Amino acid sequence: MTSTWTSTEQVVCIKAPGGPEQMQLQAVETGMPGAGEVRVRHKACGLNYIDIYHRNGSYPLPMPAGLGMEGSGVVEAVGEGVMHLAVGDRVAYASPPPGAYATARVLPARSVCKLPDNIDFETGAAMMLKGLTAQYLLRRTLPQGGLQAGDTVLFHAAAGGVGLIACQWARALGLRLIGTAGSDEKCALALQAGAAHVINYRREPDFAARVRELTEGRGVKVVYDSVGADTWEGSLNSLAPFGLLASFGNASGVVPPLNLGQLAAKGSLYVTRPTLFTHLSTREASQAMADELFAMVSSGAIKIPVEQRYPLAEVVQAHRDMEARKTTGCSVLLV
Ligand code: NDP
Repeated sequence: MTSTWTSTEQVVCIKAPGGPEQMQLQAVETGMPGAGEVRVRHKACGLNYIDIYHRNGSYPLPMPAGLGMEGSGVVEAVGEGVMHLAVGDRVAYASPPPGAYATARVLPARSVCKLPDNIDFETGAAMMLKGLTAQYLLRRTLPQGGLQAGDTVLFHAAAGGVGLIACQWARALGLRLIGTAGSDEKCALALQAGAAHVINYRREPDFAARVRELTEGRGVKVVYDSVGADTWEGSLNSLAPFGLLASFGNASGVVPPLNLGQLAAKGSLYVTRPTLFTHLSTREASQAMADELFAMVSSGAIKIPVEQRYPLAEVVQAHRDMEARKTTGCSVLLV
């Protein structure tokens, strides 16, 4: 192989933001990795809700754009200065820029980690973005004084990809997690995964009242909210004094502008808007976080719930299912 070597890969591209039909599989020339980069031949790619925000323009990308932030596969080439990977390594990653929906790609090596032998490629592709998110939320995005076993938290969309992993992680930490989900079947899945209580927020939109009942009127220490517009107000109303609202997504639309006075009126509350990629900004942090996730999965404390599988060519259907709230747990594209 020379530094000018390229190959033709199947890559999902969009030319403009829009609906699922904007995505097209195209043949694209893919080259060798530059300094600090790695080239990965994919076995599977993870589907994430952020891919929808990228596709529909809520998180704008320069056009034309690739999509997908998570994958697993085998290293085909490493660029200058990359010391932790070698050709032939089995790897998995969660990393910008979008472009994981592809048979192979070049990407920054920083967040690419060797996959332990006991974790298969499908699990590897499904677990990195969602598992590391559940981890930083429950382990690093904490109220004053931290979280102790027995503390109660509220986690929305608890039967989704991040949600079902978070239910299991919370159980392992001894937390009492109240989960919300959009159907009774989804509620049952969250309970099975470790939620202590579940609320079907489509049937019971005033979930904050139920949270008060379940906490003898106190409210919870932390609300983890990725639903956004539809749950924002109820999330603030579910918190105990000094509680923390971690707003980490907007599946139902962006949250309204925040009136800071509300935080005082509702009990000296805290609000944060975190993103995984701040946590993964160095190679050391990425590896340390991945090691902890790998240990949880290897020990069996967390089972990665891959519930939907699609061939790469069926990515349009995969997005339709995710947006229609038809999916549970994790979804992968098989390459
Ligand atoms: P999910 O599998 O959880 O899918 C999103 C879920 O949101 C749906 O299944 C649905 O569950 C719920 N939802 C509620 N209202 C709506 C609506 N109006 N339209 C569509 N879905 C709705 O996705 P992921 O596991 O990939 O991600 C979960 C969330 O976390 C996303 O919002 C994502 O953007 C965010 N995220 C944020 C990260 C960060 O670092 N900030 C990193 C990773 C994910 P139900 O039917 O039960 O309500």
